[in-house]
Amino acid sequence: MSNFSKYNPLVYTVKGLCRVCYTCVRECPVKAIKIINGQAEIIDERCIACGNCVIVCSQGAKTYYSSIEKVENILSNNRQKILCVAPSFAAEFSVIDDYKIFVGMAKVLGFDLVTEVSFGADLVAQAYKNVFENEKIKSVITSDCPAIVNYIKQYHPELVEFLAPIVSPAIAIAKVLKEKYGEDSQLVFVGPCVAKKAESNSFDENLTFSELRIMFENHKIGSENVEKLEFDKPISGQGAFFPVNHGLLKSIDKTEGFGNGEVITAEGKTKFREAIQEFENGVLKNQHLELLCCDGCIEGPGMSVKGGKLVKRMKISEYVKSKLNNLDEKEWEREKKEYSDIDLSRTFTANDQRLPEPSIEEIETVLVSMGKIQDKDMLNCGACGYETCKAYASAVVEGLAETEMCLPYAIEKLHKSNEELHLSNKQLSDTKSALKQSEKLASMGQLSAGIAHELNNPLGIITLYSSILKDELSAKSEIFGDIEIINEQAARCKTIVEGLLNFARKNKVNLKEVNIVDFIKKSFKSFVKPDNIDLEFNCELDNTIVSIDSEQMMQAITNIEKNAVDAMPNGGKLSVNIKDKGDDFIIEITDTGEGIAKENLEKIFTPFFTTKSMNKGTGLGLPLVYGIIKMHKGKINVKSNNDLKQGSLGTTFIITLPK
Ligand code: SF4
Ligand code: SF4
Repeated sequence: MSNFSKYNPLVYTVKGLCRVCYTCVRECPVKAIKIINGQAEIIDERCIACGNCVIVCSQGAKTYYSSIEKVENILSNNRQKILCVAPSFAAEFSVIDDYKIFVGMAKVLGFDLVTEVSFGADLVAQAYKNVFENEKIKSVITSDCPAIVNYIKQYHPELVEFLAPIVSPAIAIAKVLKEKYGEDSQLVFVGPCVAKKAESNSFDENLTFSELRIMFENHKIGSENVEKLEFDKPISGQGAFFPVNHGLLKSIDKTEGFGNGEVITAEGKTKFREAIQEFENGVLKNQHLELLCCDGCIEGPGMSVKGGKLVKRMKISEYVKSKLNNLDEKEWEREKKEYSDIDLSRTFTANDQRLPEPSIEEIETVLVSMGKIQDKDMLNCGACGYETCKAYASAVVEGLAETEMCLPYAIEKLHKSNEELHLSNKQLSDTKSALKQSEKLASMGQLSAGIAHELNNPLGIITLYSSILKDELSAKSEIFGDIEIINEQAARCKTIVEGLLNFARKNKVNLKEVNIVDFIKKSFKSFVKPDNIDLEFNCELDNTIVSIDSEQMMQAITNIEKNAVDAMPNGGKLSVNIKDKGDDFIIEITDTGEGIAKENLEKIFTPFFTTKSMNKGTGLGLPLVYGIIKMHKGKINVKSNNDLKQGSLGTTFIITLPK
């Protein structure tokens, strides 16, 4: 459930703007930000409304509830409207050299009265003094900052009893204004703070300075031609110092704490947490802690002017000094006395949001899952938004972070996915080209069958009659040579046609168990091995019985072996290796010939492609091999090198077949 149900949510992520840089995760003092659906979302119940995330997000993806519409509604009704201004206005509107112009602008906007919160600080300072002196409190935490109060209630609930039981200056002035101007008057607070919006119901609405600026712009109200007006009563004194460090103490003229100890002031998201931790651990005993969440309210998330802290501080000092110089002390004291009976007491209730501490084992399990096993793996780079890998792993266990937030881990995962993708792509492209090849072969097969069928008979007749003519003619005849050429070429055509028919017929296999060692040895007898070629055969299979169509496979293997021999006219080595590959086995046929040129490697299984001379190759041998291997549900790949600079020359056909 939201801590700030009135606003629901008070601080939130603008959908779609978050670029997941983890800057806000890093800057959130209570780890209230989690990556959900690719956006850094705020976990409402953990948020203390400090507004740090709003300040640090360069994308404008973190913002807070806008009160502009509600204030416009207030301004449009007939009841008395009072604007109550936090003293840091002097830093926000520093270009307006006279504060009376600012008051005039607020009145043009529609406020009947414009008052200062600092009179509330004057009363609160006095109330602190009374409580501490009368009750002899030794250890105490004071803060006007609602984010600090939220932090203690949510993350150090045991320290709630040490919070000074006095309301903030804003609540104090709201009580005064209601008493002075009537319960029916409507109060609007304006200041630098987002957490103030949800501090109490004392005000009808709470604006930030940034929102007030927008309203001035919307109503086209500038500093020119505006009547200079004094703030309305009650007049305030040193309380105007409270937005800066030691401010509240200055307003009661204190440099030492209450009780015996020193006052320790801490401001900013790291220092205030350290101070509270030390206070809880007992390192800071009998101390008065004064805390601010931002680097002083002048750096609050509702300031539209960022940075320039020293200048802002100077502007506030200048404003307060000039104010004190003109202070009507009698009237100030009189008003303080008049409202001294207002009840400024307050109690706080713990709202424990701590999560159970993860065990060492749980943290280690997360670290190991991200490959963080040794000390050197703990980069502690902070890219995830957590200071150390262990703090981050702990947040993962607590459900506040995801393992994907670790940049080195995500990059490694990305690399792996990339490699897998690359592999799948390669497999896909191999399958695609195999499919293309199969389609090509299938249509080639149909075409071949048709052409071969038509050519076979006329070719038979040409061969027959040219043979008869050749037999009948004397070798001395003038046309004997011509007839001989006709007969030879017709015979060659017949060989091609037979090859085509053979190629077209290969559409099914008849698998039988065969001893592959005997089979390969038999294949060596199907060609004439020149003396200058060495033959080498090696089989690594434990079980040499495999299922193949021995007739077709013999055709395929001998085809490759014959090509290998043809590729080594000057001698070399032909080796056949059989290897085991799980359910498959691999036949590697390697020659040490001249190799195949890269540009031809892709085409060698294309029908009619040949690099052999006219009478030597039909270009149907390797397509036939390809078809036979595919029908065995196998794969065929070729590796070849024809460039001596790249290593030894030669070609290897790698045939993978199911056993
Ligand atoms: S700072 Fe936070 S909200 Fe802004 S882009 Fe980065 S992760 Fe998103
Ligand atoms: S407002 Fe503060 S506590 Fe809330 S999410 Fe942002 S940084 Fe965290």
